[in-house]
Amino acid sequence: MKRTVLDEVAENFQRVDEISELNTLKILSAMRRLKVSDAHFKTSTGYAYGDIGREKLDELFAEIFFAQAALVRTQFVSGTHALATALFGILRPGDELVSLTGAPYDTLQTVIGHAHESRGSLKEFGVDYRELPLVDGKVDLPAIKNFITPKTRLALIQRSRGYSMRKPLTTADIEKICAAVKAVNPNCVTFVDNCYGEFVETREPVEVGADLAAGSLIKNIGGGLAPTGGYIVGKRELVELASYRLTAPGIGNELGASLGTPRLLYQGLFIAPHVTAQALKGAIFAAGIFSKLGYKTSPLPTEIRGDIIQAIELKSAERLIKFCRAIQSFSPVDSFAAPEPWDMPGYADQVIMAAGTFVQGASIELSADAPIREPFAVYLQGGLTFEHAAIGILAAAQTLAD
Ligand SMILES: *Cc1c(COP(=O)(O)O)cnc(C)c1O
Repeated sequence: MKRTVLDEVAENFQRVDEISELNTLKILSAMRRLKVSDAHFKTSTGYAYGDIGREKLDELFAEIFFAQAALVRTQFVSGTHALATALFGILRPGDELVSLTGAPYDTLQTVIGHAHESRGSLKEFGVDYRELPLVDGKVDLPAIKNFITPKTRLALIQRSRGYSMRKPLTTADIEKICAAVKAVNPNCVTFVDNCYGEFVETREPVEVGADLAAGSLIKNIGGGLAPTGGYIVGKRELVELASYRLTAPGIGNELGASLGTPRLLYQGLFIAPHVTAQALKGAIFAAGIFSKLGYKTSPLPTEIRGDIIQAIELKSAERLIKFCRAIQSFSPVDSFAAPEPWDMPGYADQVIMAAGTFVQGASIELSADAPIREPFAVYLQGGLTFEHAAIGILAAAQTLAD
């Protein structure tokens, strides 16, 4: 079955390789133009005034994203933290925030505070919120005209599917959505949750009209080497507002020690297109194997992809748990652990996670997770090497067959 699947998806693999080549060239060109050097890898301590490695990395991210500015920091504890920092940095009491991609990712719901009560949320600070429901899993483009008002300060657009069966957005979709928002209210900030989307295509959100984008360094863009962190890229004024929320008003991006080794962030970025390609091949392979076994997969094996996630509907909690345990047991780290559903901070349903990863919870490494709820879809992603992804996926398929 492995051979047949690989033959059927050969063209998709080729497309993934071509995208990886173009993104590698983009990053290499930026590194050459900005003269990245060994001096930028030195660690800094304390306030870290004038840390040239920190400044150069911001410049590099800005260049790669065609953005005016970037804030790339290990002081962001996660992607959610980077996204929340941007939201709290920009929004003021009385402002309206909207989501154009239906309900946002689980952890952002706690940040927003409208679906569930949560202390410290934007709601407590007097930020209003509305969301535009998806229609057949797609953004309701024609409805944007009447949904955005002169009062709407920020429109959140989630590129990846998150824990849902809807399709991820392509950058072409993001381009249309941003244009539709700006046509009604040019002052409304278009902000893309870029998690899992980086380097899946050759263009990124700011390039196609988004004002701002943010994500996690322990997903695609850290290349599996970044030990922790997040980033925000976009319009200078907006990145600056976010920096005042990350540190303090007046301090912004000028402080922040690199501690560990900044080299890992540079080197991780450099290999990120290749690692993303490995993960994409794993996802495509999983879709091929599991659709042959009769499961509903999204995307389908040969569909064009907008993120690295592969959803597979397993139809029962029992199969979900089995699948995740198989992925865990074929992991290089903590292979002997058996994942259990648990009440993860920031999530409303119980969640099961298989992540036998070198960097804790890094989902650019082979990992599988799922909220325990209908339709019992498992979300599989990552794989530093396609070889490992294929081994894990075949093991999971074998376990379900037994
Ligand atoms: C991963 C992710 C986030 C942020 O999650 P963290 O675990 O906090 O990094 C936000 N949105 C989407 C769509 C994601 O996939």
